[in-house]
Amino acid sequence: SDHNLDYPAHPADMDWTSHYPKYANDKTKKIEFADIGCGYGGLMIALAPLFPDTLMMGMEIRSKVQDYVYQRIKALRDTHADSNGYQNVSIMRMNAMKFLPNFFEKAQLSKIFFLFPDPHFKQRKHKARIISPTLLAEYAYALKIGGILYTITDVKDLHLWMVKHLDNHPLFERISDAECEQDPVVEHVRTATEEGKKVERNQGDKFLACYRRIEDPLV
Ligand code: SAM
Repeated sequence: SDHNLDYPAHPADMDWTSHYPKYANDKTKKIEFADIGCGYGGLMIALAPLFPDTLMMGMEIRSKVQDYVYQRIKALRDTHADSNGYQNVSIMRMNAMKFLPNFFEKAQLSKIFFLFPDPHFKQRKHKARIISPTLLAEYAYALKIGGILYTITDVKDLHLWMVKHLDNHPLFERISDAECEQDPVVEHVRTATEEGKKVERNQGDKFLACYRRIEDPLV
């Protein structure tokens, strides 16, 4: 349940300095990458050294998992203290299906990730899926024009569901497979997370779909 989750009334009310203490003096610096349902944090930890000037946040609803990722990042910061490594990555516990607009301003993000989200197989559980028409409006709001939403899953039915809703949304445009393969982030989307590694071990399929946030065609 969410009753013990803290969240700001507005993004401006949020104090991020405890997450990124080395950036505390730069008030202009904002989170640009969000990994929704980040699990054990493999993606953000792989991307942190590749985008050393970009602030990134893993968002996870399970408190035990959040604790684990927190310790993982803390240890990495300690071992890379000389180079200030991993100061740009953090983890927070939150329910991304409820409070995302409380944390991010309009057009703040350049990348948002949904890696191996919970499939919620049964029809009556589909409303619990993290990609839905209502939630897509929130993701579109948080993403800047040209920003990218990444999805990957081993569950074909969920892939088709996500593609259907994203294709139908006026503010998202699918990126071709050829263009996806040029994106240096995509190999990490496939392989960096714990769930991605598990699918690999089981030789499962991985269905990738990436979308660009486009200008509102009506504006
Ligand atoms: N992305 C990770 C990976 O690829 O290894 C984790 C995948 S796991 C199947 C899905 C994760 O989403 C779980 O860790 C779960 O706790 C988290 N999650 C589910 N609903 C969420 C929500 N509403 N807000 C934040 N995280 C959520």
